[in-house]
Amino acid sequence: MKKRVVITGAAGFIGSHLSETLLDRDYEVIGIDNLLTGDTANLAHLVNRDFTFIKHDVTNYIYIEGPVDYVLHWASPASPIDYLELPIPTLKVGALGTHKALGLAKAKKATFVLASTSEVYGDPLEHPQKESYWGNVNPVGPRGVYDEAKRFAEAMTMAYHRYHGVDTKIVRIFNTYGPRMRLNDGRAVPAFMSQALRNEDVTVFGDGSQTRSFTYISDLVDGIIRLMLSKENDPINIGNPRELTIKEIAETIIAMTGSKSKVVYRPLPTDDPKVRKPDITRARTLLGFEPKVQLEEGLIQTIEYFRTKI
Ligand code: UDP
Repeated sequence: MKKRVVITGAAGFIGSHLSETLLDRDYEVIGIDNLLTGDTANLAHLVNRDFTFIKHDVTNYIYIEGPVDYVLHWASPASPIDYLELPIPTLKVGALGTHKALGLAKAKKATFVLASTSEVYGDPLEHPQKESYWGNVNPVGPRGVYDEAKRFAEAMTMAYHRYHGVDTKIVRIFNTYGPRMRLNDGRAVPAFMSQALRNEDVTVFGDGSQTRSFTYISDLVDGIIRLMLSKENDPINIGNPRELTIKEIAETIIAMTGSKSKVVYRPLPTDDPKVRKPDITRARTLLGFEPKVQLEEGLIQTIEYFRTKI
């Protein structure tokens, strides 16, 4: 019997890659999405496989017939411009949606995996960020709707683990990039690529000295599946610890696309973290995880995808 996996947010960037890789590894996948920020085009190539799509808002009761082995809760707006425009749906899916997805896992005696985020560390005062760091989050700032929803989701997940004995996992995802990100997603890599491919100004916020560490999608998916199959119940960072300034990533993308674009500077958004880099010691030692895709290699794949969309 194939193992059955339910993925909320399956039509999103990460959800669709996760669905595809699990199908490749012989799982049956049931994808749920309300298509608020997801797109069924990301799933179109999976129609003839062991994949079922359900259009549903997971802040409401989730009904799935038959056994379920894993529930992967990926549904949420995840780009800063999305959660600024959709603050209440972001809070609701992190809170009510996590509750419903945990309820499903409990009812089916399934393993639950929460998509958490490096945003739980806020604008970090510890660098690089270890899982033991509690974070520096402004609850009432514009990013608070996402950060606090995910922090609440982590608390709810641990409560289901401790009180109900559900086998739960929490992955803290750092900046990830790759094909199927939306052109107008607003995040640094898709923004810079679509601007560079159109020879438009590349908009760096602030002075570009803030740092991020970028993970290619296939490495992230590999880490998530390792965690899903592991015995670990405490949070684990998955990311690539190679840290760059935003100015460096902008210049790299301009050079790699052969663009005529130049960098222009725009105001830094409120509470934009100054640094971000995962400490992946736990992922390395407990899951045998190691990112394999070099930045330049991942950018080539992503640029190729964006060229087809421009
Ligand atoms: N950023 C930028 N120009 C853009 C989009 C983003 O300079 O057009 C910056 C943003 O201010 C942040 C970094 O790039 O410092 C990464 O932003 P992103 O939205 O990708 O995600 P974050 O890491 O902030 O969640």
